[in-house]
Amino acid sequence: MGGAVLIRNAEVDGVARVDVRTDGARITAVGPGLDRSPDEATVDARGGALLPGLHDHHVHLRAWAATRWSVRLAVADGPDDFDRRVREAVAAAPPDVWLRGIGWHESTGGPLDRHRLDALTGSRPTRIQHRTGVLWVLNSAALALTGAAGSTADGVERDATGEPTGRLWRADGWLRERTAPLRDPFPEVLADLARQAAAWGVTRWTDATPGRDQAETTALAALWSSGRGDSPAGTSAPAERGAADPGAGRPGAGRPGAAGASGLRLPWLVLMSPPGLSLPAGTAVRLGPQKLILDDATLPTVDALAATIGDSHATGSPVAVHCVTAEQLVTLVAAIEEAGAVPGDRVEHAGIVPPGYTARLAALGLAVVTNPGFLADRGDAYQRDVPAPERDWLYPVRSLRDAGVRVAAATDAPFGPPDPWVAIAAARDRRTPDGDVLGPDERVPASVALGLFLADPDRPGHQRRIAPGHPADLCLLHTPLATALAAPSSEHVRTTL
Ligand SMILES: [Zn+2]
Repeated sequence: MGGAVLIRNAEVDGVARVDVRTDGARITAVGPGLDRSPDEATVDARGGALLPGLHDHHVHLRAWAATRWSVRLAVADGPDDFDRRVREAVAAAPPDVWLRGIGWHESTGGPLDRHRLDALTGSRPTRIQHRTGVLWVLNSAALALTGAAGSTADGVERDATGEPTGRLWRADGWLRERTAPLRDPFPEVLADLARQAAAWGVTRWTDATPGRDQAETTALAALWSSGRGDSPAGTSAPAERGAADPGAGRPGAGRPGAAGASGLRLPWLVLMSPPGLSLPAGTAVRLGPQKLILDDATLPTVDALAATIGDSHATGSPVAVHCVTAEQLVTLVAAIEEAGAVPGDRVEHAGIVPPGYTARLAALGLAVVTNPGFLADRGDAYQRDVPAPERDWLYPVRSLRDAGVRVAAATDAPFGPPDPWVAIAAARDRRTPDGDVLGPDERVPASVALGLFLADPDRPGHQRRIAPGHPADLCLLHTPLATALAAPSSEHVRTTL
């Protein structure tokens, strides 16, 4: 919704019957009984709480979109379940797009060839990978598109009559060159993700995908500016890294774009990116810190990591470092102690924070972007696989906040549950799917958990509010806040403005 809006009868900061006026970009007035201006649209909040729109501080948009045309088959429990999953994936995928399945195994999914696949997928080009990775099974449409039917390439399995069975052995390279998408479905799926985000009250995303290059950055910026001439007129472009502060009186900076022809507003977007990338002038996208991935198998030395971080800082780019194990966090903290921290440096996930490290994170001024939703999603596996002392240190919130660490939250969609209200409930309850509580001392009130999606880890002290001058991307609930937080759920979200 754009243009001037008067929201009547909202609950703001616990106060009922408050009116809020926006000019479409900023909140311009907050108070009881505001007079309606001519041509001003009005929304009756009916006593529902009005909140700043939620910021999901760590998502992966392309990987999230790809879940719409791929299907995980490792979890299929029987051939019937395999069939159901493939049929559902065909129905859900955008038209004219290759369907890709991974994790199939004949012991659970049953034997597979082109004929069984044709019955499930019809004319949709489909390829299904065996769990071992050595075999792909193609349907007839895919065989035709790749030219496998007439190919003499090694690995194209044929039956007694010489017809391809659809099974291609050790043909990854051959296949990769021939399975280019018929068209890029990302823009239309992005519009769908934006609709979904709006239903959850999310108005801002940070995309944390590592290794982004200039072409990808330019392509995303173009998607964000397409459609409605939505570039920030009359202001300096927010193209400098971390410079545009939507809360600091720069109307239009970083303003959401439109998803192609649909006219749907896309959430504001921060792109984590390596140093040296640039954005087109007037874009609606902001560059964020450089994403660094740590992996236990290839963990750098403290000195090497400190050098990498120092190089990033030298180009003006803070770092956002993926840390899911204790070893990774220990290495990172030592490296930052060596390299020095700059504002905007952050730890992604902080999956395990050993005792003593909360204070060191606080002393360095490092922000933590945590994912409590994993506790609700994978908690049973943590209960089983994470040794006892570390289990209580999983995805901490309370101890970090008590130590003075700036904490924000994210869903890590599509790798965690993408609904931020699942993460809010999980930060409050820390319950596994089986109902156990992991690290009960780390629980926080739901109001604090909600606040993790309203703060900005890149901007120390930045907490969005419903107050004049603040941005006008807002989340309206059906009920007062206390009612919603008694049982946190996206069902309480009425609309996103
Ligand atoms: Zn991630």
